[in-house]
Amino acid sequence: MTSKQTQNGKIQFDVIVVGAGLAGSAAAAVTAQGGLSVALIERGQAPGAKNSFGGALYTHSLEEIYPDFWDRKPPLERPVTEAGFWFLSKDGLVNMTVRGGALGRQPADAYVALRAKFDLWWAEQAAQSGAFIIPKTTVTDFIRDSSGKIVGVDTDRAQGRIYAPVVIVCEGVNNLLTLKAGLSKSDLKPKAVALGVKQLIALPADTINARFGLPDNSHGLAVTVAGDVSMGLTGMGFVYTGNDCVSIGLGVTLEELAKAKIRPYALLQRYLNHPAIAPLVAGGRLMEYGAHLIPEGGWNDMPKLYTDGVMVAGDAATMVNALHWEGTNMAIIAGKEAAETAIKAHRRQDFSGKSLSEYRERLSKRFILKDLRQYRNLSRFLENHPTFMDVYPNFLNDALGMFFTGYGKTKKDLYGDIVRSLTRRRPLIKVVGDMLAFGKAVMGI
Ligand SMILES: Cc1cc2nc3c(=O)[nH]c(=O)nc-3n(C[C@H](O)[C@H](O)[C@H](O)COP(=O)(O)OP(=O)(O)OC[C@H]3O[C@@H](n4cnc5c(N)ncnc54)[C@H](O)[C@@H]3O)c2cc1C
Repeated sequence: MTSKQTQNGKIQFDVIVVGAGLAGSAAAAVTAQGGLSVALIERGQAPGAKNSFGGALYTHSLEEIYPDFWDRKPPLERPVTEAGFWFLSKDGLVNMTVRGGALGRQPADAYVALRAKFDLWWAEQAAQSGAFIIPKTTVTDFIRDSSGKIVGVDTDRAQGRIYAPVVIVCEGVNNLLTLKAGLSKSDLKPKAVALGVKQLIALPADTINARFGLPDNSHGLAVTVAGDVSMGLTGMGFVYTGNDCVSIGLGVTLEELAKAKIRPYALLQRYLNHPAIAPLVAGGRLMEYGAHLIPEGGWNDMPKLYTDGVMVAGDAATMVNALHWEGTNMAIIAGKEAAETAIKAHRRQDFSGKSLSEYRERLSKRFILKDLRQYRNLSRFLENHPTFMDVYPNFLNDALGMFFTGYGKTKKDLYGDIVRSLTRRRPLIKVVGDMLAFGKAVMGI
């Protein structure tokens, strides 16, 4: 469905979506599938041009927007058939990954993706559903009527005012419009955002298979890396295998980076030079270097999700679960729920905050608000427990190192040495306290 030119020359849609990222294209597709006219406005040259992530996309969210998702031949990379954690010490690595079993399902639950390719395709699917994509256009502000009600958006184009009674803001982490709508009270806080930096490194598929122990190109790896990756700062690394590239990077809280006066690129380079990491990417060609903010404030920093005529979804609404690298699926599902709410609002012809509050109710029944609420204390917990960034990963490396070299030693001595390697770093009583506190932070109690 296309726009209507109203009598006085106004460009009028039923719904405007700002930002053709994962949330925005999902919102636009669902709105169009519901029979409404929708403009999807993207500031990049094309959708995906400005987007960068780790990373993996999650099948459940993709199939929720398009039940025939796989027939559409999505441009995904490898399925994630092995996933888990790597714990780095200064010169070692404990590998705790799982493969086979649930990770052998077809289609897999997660797929590695390159955003420049995927987001373009994702937006094209929205266009096929009937959304009208307006690229190379930045939304600069809202248009309000004489009573202050939002009735559309202004853009950086000459005569670029576009009208709709409801706007879905999917602007990503730079929450300028969320602020302008009065949904957020303050700018991004350095404490509540991580800076993600990553390299995309090209390697032949066979080399990737050999180095990562993958049987063939239909297998892929996704790992979260903890320990000697963040120099003790609150943060984690990641490694994902694409078809013929490896995505490797880390995210560290902006505030801690600034305090420690560490340049993110230097941190990434140090990680790439780690003796367990360097051989994995040796000889590769740098395809892309990306830096992007991740809103990790979650529940505690979440803006109000709706007001008269506006809803906000995805990173703009701090919908990220950093421990699980879940952001894409939250963005997509939130975009969908905002669209469903907009469709209902049109049926009611009521675009007030009260009418759009249905959006929050919908999200509260999904994993999005439930998980963000449950993990509300986790970021603060990790900040206050730097031991999880160095003491425990180092201990894990030492303990397993001792276990597998303690031949000929009495096992009583061996276990004594292992326990001492922990208590030398942290008194046992504090270790027990740390573990209990971690459990409480994860369970949200
Ligand atoms: C290093 C890194 C690794 C990550 N890894 C993972 C992972 O493995 N799995 C996962 O699920 N998540 C991951 N994430 C998080 C994930 O990338 C985000 O949660 C997700 O992209 C959010 O989608 P979104 O649609 O809300 O925002 P975005 O994808 O950022 O899209 C926002 C869009 O809005 C456009 N825009 C912004 N302002 C305007 C404006 N004023 N006018 C017009 N257009 C505008 C932008 O150009 C952009 O296209 C990672 C993030 C980073 C940084």
